[in-house]
Amino acid sequence: MSIEKTLDLVEDARRRGFAVPAVNVVDELSIRATVEAAESLRSPIILQTSVKTVRTVGAEALFSAYRATARRSSVPVSLHLDHCPDPVVIQRVIDAGWSSVLYDASHLDLDEAVATTDRVVTVAHQAGVAVESEIENIVGVEDGVGSDEATHSYSDEELVDVAVRTRIDLLAPALGTAHGLYTSAPELLIDRARRLSIMLDRPIVLHGGTGLSDAEFREFVQAGVSKINISTALKRAYMESALAHLEDSRKSNQWEPTRLFDQIASGVRDVIARHIVSFGAAETVSSSVPVVAS
Ligand SMILES: [Zn+2]
Repeated sequence: MSIEKTLDLVEDARRRGFAVPAVNVVDELSIRATVEAAESLRSPIILQTSVKTVRTVGAEALFSAYRATARRSSVPVSLHLDHCPDPVVIQRVIDAGWSSVLYDASHLDLDEAVATTDRVVTVAHQAGVAVESEIENIVGVEDGVGSDEATHSYSDEELVDVAVRTRIDLLAPALGTAHGLYTSAPELLIDRARRLSIMLDRPIVLHGGTGLSDAEFREFVQAGVSKINISTALKRAYMESALAHLEDSRKSNQWEPTRLFDQIASGVRDVIARHIVSFGAAETVSSSVPVVAS
């Protein structure tokens, strides 16, 4: 089976100089399509869920869809919780089987962010779960979490000091990117990614990647980023594929849900495949991994 831990996948990518795509899935269909894209390109993959998706679909239903797909997969697949400011939800997904969580303390002032992050890390580590930490806010609102204003930002030294003191496993610093779609070109902090990846002996995570070019992704990967989140690009591919199919259905007066699912899966596979290639993750999993039937 290929149920894996996020931290193992990302540490391996960091050593080998590529980034693992971390895809915000929303349902069983997007889980399957994302894993199919990873299998076709021999890439590890992180499936991640927003708090909103956990609340809408339910932690147990999401975990069983993840487990069913990951067990059949020929590439390593892990499950991560994206931006979560609520320790209660973190506990719920730890109990359900997630292997890592992003504790988002970016809305808190530094002292409180340090204290709460430390408590979350203690609880998560006891369960063998890794913690991604965000104490600077990456601008933009994603599934109801976040703010359009940069309210907390720190020096590289402060970020590294807090990361070491709170014993976090992955760091999500502000790198000039934003959640959602860009209305003007972002000022990317590639040198900052490089400095932090040297100063801190832990994986660096890039958020807000939708809209960056292949060359920009490659620069971030070369700078030491080893997990890159994809959310908006999947949502767009999912909804635009659905819309195209439904417009065709109306024209032809043919209404077949399974064909709708096929078209959505195809749109999702294409967009995830493009990102896998940009991140240097294609062909990083040997094809000799045994496939275990579920
Ligand atoms: Zn994010």
